[in-house]
Amino acid sequence: MEGRVVAVYGRRFEVECDDGRRRQCVVKAKRSGVACGDRVRVRPIGEREGMIEEILPRENLLYRSDFHREKLIAANVTRVLVVVAPRPGFSEELLNRCLVAAQSQHVTPVIVLNKVDLVEAAAQVRQQLALYEDLGYPVVPVSAKQDVSPLRPYLEGHVAVLVGPSGVGKSTIVNALVPDARAATAEISEALDSGRHTTTSTRLYHLGPGTDLIDSPGMQAFGLSHLELPALAAAFPEFRPLLSACRFNDCRHLEEPDCAVRAAAEHGQVSKRRLAMYQALARELMARKLYA
Ligand code: GDP
Ligand code: ZN
Repeated sequence: MEGRVVAVYGRRFEVECDDGRRRQCVVKAKRSGVACGDRVRVRPIGEREGMIEEILPRENLLYRSDFHREKLIAANVTRVLVVVAPRPGFSEELLNRCLVAAQSQHVTPVIVLNKVDLVEAAAQVRQQLALYEDLGYPVVPVSAKQDVSPLRPYLEGHVAVLVGPSGVGKSTIVNALVPDARAATAEISEALDSGRHTTTSTRLYHLGPGTDLIDSPGMQAFGLSHLELPALAAAFPEFRPLLSACRFNDCRHLEEPDCAVRAAAEHGQVSKRRLAMYQALARELMARKLYA
């Protein structure tokens, strides 16, 4: 039987099976790596339990960086909502990491500017986001405490995941969109996990037909170390038309002569801030490869 993973609690999984039943599952053998949103093949054990035997091919997979190990956030998402807010401080670096993570998995990110009720501070962040709007990323201002309805058109018909540093309001947004989220989480964690690990669990909620929201609490940073440099550069959409114009076709856009990306930044066609973000990430990936 096939199904979809709708909750991950440590090494236990809840699968919505194609017979309409939800089964609490474990994974066969030591073979792990199951993510929320994964389509899986399950061997049912009665009506309530099962064994995950196989992960079906994925559209994409998002990782979170957890110090040295990378963990899975979600699979088969069609939309990444990158949440930013004026409090705690807005981090452009983190925003870029989130955008790169989404782009590299071929998912179009949407930037959610939360806490716009903090009017002046939010306006400042909005200004910093103008660059990203120019690049084509939608920016959706909301106040999760007051009204999340501006988000609905961006969720409709999608499997969306909210990402961003802690404190920006992801849980507040989820609770506004899914009124029974807390109750569902408590119930599941009791059934699967006797209350442990609840903060590292990931859950998929149905918001409507064909519309799902994946909640992955506590996400701090995206894992990008699986990326190769060409994929990193391609995750900066404004670099793409330039890449074939560099002198070397394996140009890293760092110190190479006749680099079209750096030339474009010199001439103002590409933002110097974005080039600097790219170069910092490129150097980080190269350093990890050397010491891995
Ligand atoms: P998370 O760590 O991203 O899940 O953030 P939380 O949802 O826990 O929110 C962090 C803090 O920001 C909490 O104190 C919330 O009450 C507050 N918060 C969330 N949304 C808003 C908002 O729209 N406006 C304001 N002023 N505060 C908010
Ligand atoms: Zn170059």
